Amino acid sequence: MSSDLYCTDLVRRFGEHRAVDQVSLDVPAGSFFSILGPSGCGKTTLLRLLAGFDRPDSGDIFIRDQRMNTVPPNKRPVNMVFQHLALFPTMSVADNIGYGLKRRKVAAAERRKKTERVLEQVGLPGLGDRMPQQLSGGQRQRVALARCLVLEPTLLLLDEPLGALDLKLREQMKVELKHLQKAFGTTFVYITHDQSEALVMSDRVAVMRNGRFDQVAAPDVLYREPATPFVASFVGDNNRLDGEVLGVDNERVRLRLDTGGEVSGRPSSALAVGQRASLFIRPESMLIGADLPASFSRIETQLSTTLFDGANSRIETRLGERELFARLPQDGSVGDLQPGTTVSLGWEPQRATVFAEAQV
Ligand code: ATP
Repeated sequence: MSSDLYCTDLVRRFGEHRAVDQVSLDVPAGSFFSILGPSGCGKTTLLRLLAGFDRPDSGDIFIRDQRMNTVPPNKRPVNMVFQHLALFPTMSVADNIGYGLKRRKVAAAERRKKTERVLEQVGLPGLGDRMPQQLSGGQRQRVALARCLVLEPTLLLLDEPLGALDLKLREQMKVELKHLQKAFGTTFVYITHDQSEALVMSDRVAVMRNGRFDQVAAPDVLYREPATPFVASFVGDNNRLDGEVLGVDNERVRLRLDTGGEVSGRPSSALAVGQRASLFIRPESMLIGADLPASFSRIETQLSTTLFDGANSRIETRLGERELFARLPQDGSVGDLQPGTTVSLGWEPQRATVFAEAQV
């Protein structure tokens, strides 16, 4: 597959601080690529390098095989959607969308045709004469996208575009954005600190921390096979147990927990007997009860509370200082257990990941 965006070893320093530190990325044409990370990890700095608002101290940026390092923003085949949409409030929807085309000296008739078509594509046919303040938040967001997509960029960069919307609208828009991206076939590079947005929308996600990528993978791989303890705890819910390695073979590590007891999981990298290690197990990968299969790892915990949300039961327990929780589907029976009761939690070792020295 050909790449629309290809970067090697990008570095951007602010004084001694490396906001972007040796980042390489390869984004296939027509794909939805997200950069996910906590506040301050360098997402915006990286996006600004890609857009051309800032220059890297070292490393290269290629868009469709053209080196972009010194190309100014308006000469790059790139458009950007910001969190605060900045539609022109005194212009109609059609004029907002046609603005970029007009600057490119596209004739009025052609402009009108393209504007009408893109309004239809984003699900707002016939709304060209409205003013931005006569639209809902979600509709305004779609106009902001239409305004960029009508220019047919190679790359669309999106800087937390859903951040200013309320929760319900955000849920709806993340599905719509994904559909729009597929319908237009434009390559999207999307930055967000919201892991659920990244998982739902993306073909691939780069998890960023301290200016670097910890892992770049498809959402399901990121979730099932996190490469670092940071990815394991930042992407989705996870439980963590610490201990010392007792034994290792290719597919299985045995740990003696600090709280006592022995558990097993899949090693994420080479581990040695005696080494400190942390096991991560997802809440939905745990089962509860006395009659767990013999092949399962199990721990005895103290029940704190049981919460039922209609679709799932959340079973919160304690093991020493650690709080653990399991998520059972609605029909997962927990009986009427009282807080303080000892409950067994267990998992298939293959579903837990063990890392050396988790420091997160
Ligand atoms: P957020 O999600 O909060 O927007 P981010 O991941 O986008 O965060 P950046 O804005 O890229 O993070 O900032 C990364 C780091 O670089 C931060 O420590 C920030 O303080 C620093 N930084 C960013 N811009 C500058 C600048 N112009 N001068 C000095 N330091 C900067």
